Amino acid sequence: LLEFDGIDKYFDDTKVLHDVSLAVNEAEVVVIIGPSGSGKSTLLRCANRLETVQSGEIRIGGIPIQDGNVDHLRQRIGMVFQDFNLFPHKTVVENITLAPATVKDIDDQVARERAMDLLGDVGLEDQTDSYPNQLSGGQQQRVAIARALAMEPSLMLFDEVTSALDPELVGEVLTVMRELAADGMTMVIVTHQMGFARDVGDRIVLMSDGEIAEIGETESFFTDPETDRAEQFLARIH
Ligand code: ATP
Ligand code: MG
Repeated sequence: LLEFDGIDKYFDDTKVLHDVSLAVNEAEVVVIIGPSGSGKSTLLRCANRLETVQSGEIRIGGIPIQDGNVDHLRQRIGMVFQDFNLFPHKTVVENITLAPATVKDIDDQVARERAMDLLGDVGLEDQTDSYPNQLSGGQQQRVAIARALAMEPSLMLFDEVTSALDPELVGEVLTVMRELAADGMTMVIVTHQMGFARDVGDRIVLMSDGEIAEIGETESFFTDPETDRAEQFLARIH
């Protein structure tokens, strides 16, 4: 569904992605791990054209992402970041209906009903008319996930969505992501939570210095990594 094919990415003269190739299959959950600065966020950002690449090609459903309109691309790819970026002056339900109602030209009532369903899915049906600052970080992040899902994306990208949360709020967000994975959503997840990675990932990608150091099936990656780089990484986090 999503293919990175020989991606090189520079910031000025600094090469931050080196020949990265990765194919994410339909309904697959790929978890990207690796040290700070290894290029995880940059790789995700390239997929929805928040960054441009200098060589290689990224395709969705076989079609290069450069070919189409960027708004259309971002409707197909839901992205959730560490900082939730909800609209502070809009209610929870308005945060979710805004984009579908304007971008997709969906009827207000239909958009609202769909938003209520999504809020039910993330366990927030009782917070529809709250404002973001009335919610905990975990609740805000669940709204951000519902907002992304409202566009009916074909895949979802998550960049350290629990990193800014108090530890007791992490679980509720991971639960929502687990349910999404179980529903068959195609997902690419960047996380430092190794327990979650192991639990939800079909495959693990280890990035190191802008390269993919290892890609493996989750269980074999954690129990029997192939590269020294992966062994070192796992030794340090255990
Ligand atoms: P972390 O785990 O800390 O989030 P990461 O793996 O997501 O790290 P990136 O944010 O992708 O790493 O950064 C990869 C490299 O690109 C780093 O060397 C970083 O300093 C550099 N970089 C990222 N964004 C920019 C930018 N906008 N301009 C210049 N350099 C950047
Ligand atoms: Mg990052």
